[in-house]
Amino acid sequence: MESLGVHARVDAAGNLRGVYSAAQPNAPRLLIGSHLDTVPNAGAYDGVLGVVLAVALLEELQELRLPFGIEVVGFSEEEGVRFGTPFIGSRALVGRLDNKLLDIRDAHGIAVRKAIEEFGLNPDEIPQAELENNTLGYLEFHIEQGPVLEKLNLPLAVVDAIAGQSRLEFTFLGRANHAGTTPMHHRCDALAGAAEWVGTVERVAQGVPGLVATVGKIDAKPGATNVIAGEAWLTLDVRHCSDDIRTRVVFDLIRQAEEIAVRRGLSVRENTLLSQRAVAMDAFLNDQIEQAILKTGCKPHRMVSGAGHDAMIMAEKIPAAMIFLRTPGGVSHDPAESVACEDIEKAIECGLHLLDQLAASPEFQQRINRA
Ligand SMILES: [Zn+2]
Repeated sequence: MESLGVHARVDAAGNLRGVYSAAQPNAPRLLIGSHLDTVPNAGAYDGVLGVVLAVALLEELQELRLPFGIEVVGFSEEEGVRFGTPFIGSRALVGRLDNKLLDIRDAHGIAVRKAIEEFGLNPDEIPQAELENNTLGYLEFHIEQGPVLEKLNLPLAVVDAIAGQSRLEFTFLGRANHAGTTPMHHRCDALAGAAEWVGTVERVAQGVPGLVATVGKIDAKPGATNVIAGEAWLTLDVRHCSDDIRTRVVFDLIRQAEEIAVRRGLSVRENTLLSQRAVAMDAFLNDQIEQAILKTGCKPHRMVSGAGHDAMIMAEKIPAAMIFLRTPGGVSHDPAESVACEDIEKAIECGLHLLDQLAASPEFQQRINRA
């Protein structure tokens, strides 16, 4: 960034930022970026590719100045690995890195605030990391982390929306008893009831287009080979781009759990841990991205992101948009994660067309004037 004449700095939340200036001083700016952190035993592209692509776009501009500035942003702590809370960096930009979040502690009892200080930054300066009022929007390139684009044989996609998410825990209660002496028709087997319901979850999800539902964790008590389970605890994760459909499916799965429990002489209770609404990406930017992808000679696929991204946080305050890159084998959060050079070329080409279009767009000019 320094070699491009962009002064790089780290804000008080640990985000790496630098502004490529516009043709006019103090012109509004467009943010382009992604996150710099990742998960343990990760691949090399999740997040950081989007930051490198932002820098590559500046390089390709070859000092050409646009009617708007471009701020490259590399977010810190998107994954939430250390503190169990994601999007710490991007939350600072929308003014949501508050005291409650700063007090969250890691496994060693170190709070976010302390970690920031130990990194040599001042948590009291976090409010200064907030977005300037004249920020035009946020653009994020990111690997798809799934198999869809590879199946379609396409390098790029426009992200229409980031799916809403429900997370619940269920407990089936039955009666623990001797596995050898209790005849099959005398049992109240909590684990067998839970297992029947897991099958229902999969079947229901398969019947609703665009829906994904997962039971990722199960725990049976007392948990012995020769004891019928008296209790089975399990989790449910449901995602869809329509909040109505997601809520309806969750309601239906709760009802089916109750029906299974009653039929088997069990009881079931559930507890909602998270209900997060779907986040739409900006319609104008999406149309512009679609046109830009077309100009690269590729078909612009539109899709929903099943994973959360910084763009979801930025969308609370400014128009946000995402471009997905094909992920070979759909493999991510693993050292085998990769991306094809040709796809990166297409992404840069698409980004340049997009910047070109935005610079020439009357609607974007209006946004610049209003900012
Ligand atoms: Zn990511």
